[in-house]
Amino acid sequence: MSEDETLFERIIAGEIPADVVYQDDTTFAFRDIRPQAKVHVLVVPKKRYRNLGELAAGDPQLLADVALTARKVAELEGVLESGYRVVFNTDSDAGQTVFHVHAHVLGGEPLGLFGA
Ligand code: AMP
Repeated sequence: MSEDETLFERIIAGEIPADVVYQDDTTFAFRDIRPQAKVHVLVVPKKRYRNLGELAAGDPQLLADVALTARKVAELEGVLESGYRVVFNTDSDAGQTVFHVHAHVLGGEPLGLFGA
């Protein structure tokens, strides 16, 4: 892996296996390896930005693509009507571990309140 290549770039490139749920020209969605809910899918832009703020500032259309793919994933996973949560962790206190922006799409059961 090159110094600045992330795990998710390797997954998008097919170098590391993943359970792919959906992809299109600009986004890629796959199941989280350690699911925190019955439905737990990660949505990433194929082009790398470090976090939500950098994506929003650098390419607002791509951020919209990520949001639309999150909705598409909810539809494919059957949770569009029951509801779902979209989470972007940013930096250490939030627990971000992969520095390629990703939306966690969570659902399939009632979700707890936010907190530690
Ligand atoms: P975050 O903590 O917000 O940076 O989220 C990173 C997520 O990536 C975590 O929920 C991990 O469980 C997940 N993850 C790590 N490695 C893999 C992998 N190989 N395939 C799928 N998900 C992964």
